[in-house]
Amino acid sequence: MISKLRQTLFMVSLLGNALLANTGRAADAAFPTKPVTMIVPFAAGGPTDTVARLIAQAMSVELKQTVVIENVGGAGGTLGAGRVARAAADGYTILLHHIGQATSPTLYRNKLPYKVEDFEAIGLVTAVPMTIVARKDFPPKDLKELIDYAKKNKDKVTYANAGLGSASHLCGMLLMKAMDTVLTTVPYKGTGPAMNDLLGGQVDFMCDQTTNTTSQIKAGKIKGYAVTSKKAIASLPQLPTAADSGLPGFEISVWHALYAPKSTPPAAVNRLNQALKVALKDKIVISRFAELGTEPEPEERVKPEVLKAYLKDELTRWDGVIKKAGQFAD
Ligand code: ASP
Repeated sequence: MISKLRQTLFMVSLLGNALLANTGRAADAAFPTKPVTMIVPFAAGGPTDTVARLIAQAMSVELKQTVVIENVGGAGGTLGAGRVARAAADGYTILLHHIGQATSPTLYRNKLPYKVEDFEAIGLVTAVPMTIVARKDFPPKDLKELIDYAKKNKDKVTYANAGLGSASHLCGMLLMKAMDTVLTTVPYKGTGPAMNDLLGGQVDFMCDQTTNTTSQIKAGKIKGYAVTSKKAIASLPQLPTAADSGLPGFEISVWHALYAPKSTPPAAVNRLNQALKVALKDKIVISRFAELGTEPEPEERVKPEVLKAYLKDELTRWDGVIKKAGQFAD
C-alpha cells in the first residue's frame, strides 16, 4: 500500500516537473511579451544615447516589442549600471554601456554600487573613435598648439567630461598625462549636456565620441583637432590622427556592449543577442553609424562569449593604466 502511494506521488511529481518545464519553455519562447527597457547610463542626446536609440529601434522591429530607452546618467555611468545590476533578471531591463564597464571597477574601487559579475553578457555593439574638440573660438589652431596653450594656461583652460569612468574622462586623463599638465575638469551627466556648454562657449575643450561630435564639426560649430583612431576616418577626413599630430601612440576606441542582469534566463539572453545581431545588419543602423564615424561589430564578434573574454582583457588592461595614473574616485 505504502509503496503504491510512493509510486503515485513519484508519478505526480514527475508530471509536475514536466508541466513546469513546459510552461518555462513556453514563457522563454514567447519572450518578450512586453516592452524591454534599455538603460543608457548617460544623459539623453549624447553619444551612447545615440548608439542606443539606433539599435533599440532596429531591435524593436525584430523583437516585435518596443525597446524603450531610459537615461540614468551620473557618476560616469555607474548609477545606470547599478540600476540594471539590481533589476529583475528577466530580460526586460538591459544595459547599454561602453568601455566604462571595464574601467569603473578600478576607478570606483571603494564605492562601485555593483560588481562586474552582476551581469550576463549579450554582445558587443560598436567601437567608436573619439575626437579632440574645442569651442569654436578657442585660440589653438591645431593639436600641437593646443598642447602648448594648455600647458601655458593651465589655470584657466577647462576640460569637460562625463564624470569619472566616462570615456571623455579616460581620454582626458591620458591627454593630460601626455601633456604633462593638470587642467580644471568640469563633469557632466554625459557629453550631451557637455556639448551644449561647448557650443555655448562655457567650457574650452573635450574629447568626445564621433557619434556626438561629427555633425557639430561638419557644421563648423566646434573646432575639431584630431581623431583618436589608428587611421583618419572617412566621415571626418580633414582631421589628422592624434598620434600624427603630436601625441605618438595616442589611440582610444570606445567599445559599447549590451548586458542583462546576472541569472537572466539563457533563452532571453539568446533572443536579445539574436535581435542585436539583426539590428547591427540593419541598413539604417549601418548608414547612420557610418555618417557618425563608426561601424557595427561584425557578426562573429556579437556573441556573449566574445564579449565576456573581451571585457576580461579590458578589465586587466585598464586596471593597469588607472593604477599607474593613480586616479581613483575615492
Ligand atoms: N558616453 C558618454 C555619453 O554618452 C560620454 C562619455 O563616456 O564620455 O554621454
